[in-house]
Amino acid sequence: MSAFVGKYADELIKNAKYIATPGKGILAADESTGTIGKRLSSIKVENIEANRQALRELLFTTSGAASFLSGVILFEETLYQKTSEGKPFVDLLNENGILPGIKVDKGTVELAAAGTSRNAEELETTTQGHDGLGTRCQEYYKAGARFAKWRAVLKIGPNDQPSELAIVENARGLARYALISQQFGLVPIVEPEILTDGPHDIQRCAYVTERVLAAVYKALNDHHVLLEGTLLKPNMVTPGSDDHTPKVAPEIIAEFTVRALLRTVPPAVPGIVFLSGGQSEEEASLNLSAMNKLQMLKPWTLSFSFGRALQQSTLKTWAGKKENLLKAQQVFFARCKANSEASLGNYLGGPSDQLEASQSLFVKGYKY
Ligand code: 13P
Repeated sequence: MSAFVGKYADELIKNAKYIATPGKGILAADESTGTIGKRLSSIKVENIEANRQALRELLFTTSGAASFLSGVILFEETLYQKTSEGKPFVDLLNENGILPGIKVDKGTVELAAAGTSRNAEELETTTQGHDGLGTRCQEYYKAGARFAKWRAVLKIGPNDQPSELAIVENARGLARYALISQQFGLVPIVEPEILTDGPHDIQRCAYVTERVLAAVYKALNDHHVLLEGTLLKPNMVTPGSDDHTPKVAPEIIAEFTVRALLRTVPPAVPGIVFLSGGQSEEEASLNLSAMNKLQMLKPWTLSFSFGRALQQSTLKTWAGKKENLLKAQQVFFARCKANSEASLGNYLGGPSDQLEASQSLFVKGYKY
């Protein structure tokens, strides 16, 4: 008998643990129709369903990539799509030992500031999508999804941003979402992303990350979320992305990040899967590897749930052309392998001629 109550408790714990399998990670392929449109337009491909399907099919049918992946996050449209041979993507992923996940948030909205004199740049956000969430989770579970993602966004700005209001509001939103997901059998990935935008140093990012994560875990506990059946998807602790902010080595990022997590994330959480947040593919892999190499107590698996840092060079290599498919899949395989090695602390860096993999993927005020 399980020590936990709730219809799905055992299944949630099993699935969260599976996603956190050492050496495996998550491909975030859940870009909304608008966001994928920007990616496709960067390679001059039209944003129509057939092209979105083709890109996702390229990723999911890459030979050998499955051994490095335990989960793929899908957008609603993709959850119901099939390969060109008529096999549902969900079945293909399951056959390859990859759990299908689903983005369930409905994007961010501004926290209205009618009573203040803040300008648009300073406005903070909260994430919407709680209405009808239970019903959607039930449908997604029926369609084969076994985990969910909800992205909350905070920014480090002037005037002590993120404000206490933004921190508390987003922490409660994440907790409410996490509980509803668990009620209907989906492992919640809790994603409080602190954007890298700004001129701040790494100390400030560490301080804000600790404050935000402390509030998130207080809220998750207040809402009685089963922590063993959750995953955390945080930002890495880095200096701000402004051009004149001095860069720091992966070993420093690793130390600051792991320390912030040790201070705030309970060992009951099985896995922490980072977002890439605009880092280049190489940077993201090297930083993750440095964390796993660190000789510090780490009670959770530290792995990846990258979007941009797993797909960018693949997208460029593909360029929407059938004749590039195989080459693009080789590039995607290489990125999955690199990040699998990084999640074990064994990634030594790619050849220096991989220009594409070293390019920053930063987008100001990134929307997903
Ligand atoms: P990036 O890795 O591109 O930051 O995105 C991951 C993600 O899923 C954001 O919600």
